Amino acid sequence: MSQHIGTLSEPNIIDGTATAAKMLAELRSAAADLAERGLTPGLAVVIVGEDPASTVYVRNKIRRSVEAGFRSFHHALPASTREGDLLSLIERLNAAQDVDGILVQLPLPSHINPEKVTAAIDPAKDVDGFHPLNAGRLTIGVSAPVPCTPLGCMILIKSVRPNLEGLSAVVVGRSNIVGKPMAQLLLRESCTVTIAHSKTSNLSSVCREADILISAVGQPGLIRGAWIKPGAVVIDVGISRIEHDGRQRLVGDVNFDEARSVAGALTPVPGGVGPMTIACLLRNTMEAACQRRRVAFPLR
Ligand code: NDP
Repeated sequence: MSQHIGTLSEPNIIDGTATAAKMLAELRSAAADLAERGLTPGLAVVIVGEDPASTVYVRNKIRRSVEAGFRSFHHALPASTREGDLLSLIERLNAAQDVDGILVQLPLPSHINPEKVTAAIDPAKDVDGFHPLNAGRLTIGVSAPVPCTPLGCMILIKSVRPNLEGLSAVVVGRSNIVGKPMAQLLLRESCTVTIAHSKTSNLSSVCREADILISAVGQPGLIRGAWIKPGAVVIDVGISRIEHDGRQRLVGDVNFDEARSVAGALTPVPGGVGPMTIACLLRNTMEAACQRRRVAFPLR
């Protein structure tokens, strides 16, 4: 994992956009080297339906993968797509020689079982790291693709606190795609990890214990400045759309104005974790490509 590449845009604001841009530049140059050897990494992105947020995420993923010099395969299926047809497409992508990574954008329409779809992806092409086999590997500490958002958070954390051993970490949120893998990564770094969720009593005092505080909830302003231990590293994964002065605005879980005077380092929304998620997706895709084609992974 890349370390020490984080950028602070202001004294204690962690600049995810700049950090992701550095990662993407490294990926672009590594992809050009691989392309010269006929090994261009390929990413297939599948979206079912027209959920507006998912459509924006998919568009950004495709744009970044093309910019990085990857092959991009876009499959936009109608919301009425049958589960069986989606599974058949995944089977074809599993077998396709030029596809190294497969991403099925979540959420899926309610008639499609997301667990079944995730489990159908070849674990070697599972660049989201959501396949049960890869989730299990992460839990037992065996090398596996790490879910992109927690991986991006970890790179940002280590850019400001390279050694996490013995620190107290609190993850608010216990989803399979963010909260749980985030906790596993922090445990791997020898943090003492607490996972909080909607049933946690006295959340404020749990958060106040954290040297590293990660919030992945999706509730604007949930984390108040007074909940933050002075000097803590605060990573805001949450993304919510709110109406502000008649315009749509993206905000995180952390009350940014309160938090910035207490935290040692803090990610903004937007411009924090979001750009890192895409950079880590491309990193995972390149790693999958190198493993499948038995060449050394060119990045740290
Ligand atoms: P989920 O809805 O799957 O999980 C949310 C978690 O928050 C649950 O574990 C829930 O607890 C917990 N929670 C809800 N309310 C509270 C509360 N009041 N106090 C404490 N915990 C609470 O969401 P995701 O994990 O998928 O995503 C979380 C957020 O991160 C969302 O805003 C999402 O948009 C954003 N996100 C951002 C990404 C990025 O790239 N920046 C990528 C992925 C997600 P319980 O389990 O008890 O219900």
